[in-house]
Amino acid sequence: MKVSGNYASKIDIAKELAELDCRAVTLTAVARTKPADSRQIYKDVKGTQSQSGQTPTDHQWFFASKERRKQAAFLLMTYAKYREHYSSMADSHGVAFTLAYRLYVKVAKDDAEISGERWQLLVGRGFERNWRDIPKGGSTGFEYDNAKVMLCRKCQTPHLVEAHHLSYQCPTCS
Ligand SMILES: [Zn+2]
Repeated sequence: MKVSGNYASKIDIAKELAELDCRAVTLTAVARTKPADSRQIYKDVKGTQSQSGQTPTDHQWFFASKERRKQAAFLLMTYAKYREHYSSMADSHGVAFTLAYRLYVKVAKDDAEISGERWQLLVGRGFERNWRDIPKGGSTGFEYDNAKVMLCRKCQTPHLVEAHHLSYQCPTCS
């Protein structure tokens, strides 16, 4: 691989994502490495071919349980902080995506339900244009069934909720 300085930082992001079990297609989407490079990086890191086939497109999946809602909100709030911190960098999305996901995997351990592919769907597509609004309750930009982060009015824990909510009480507090 012939590599310029700018592309080298993309490769670093892609390697870290592969370490975190993200598929080659996600490496391309997040790190913006070329598809052939992403497949090679995945193979070098994991010692096997990246799984092919469709990535998830159903963001409603996040609404199916309290755990998913909490984990998604944790990821989004962490992402927003990192993205702001690194906002002057060309690869700020890739860096923030990776740091937030690494922290999530470390904290959630065996309870982690959100794959790198679902994480990219939520933040990379859902909040592509308005990530700055995540902590302010801004909604995703999907065509329908949009989501936002809101604190439970009792326990103050952030949850991913449907965009129409004016207030939210989590199942534990209800
Ligand atoms: Zn609550």
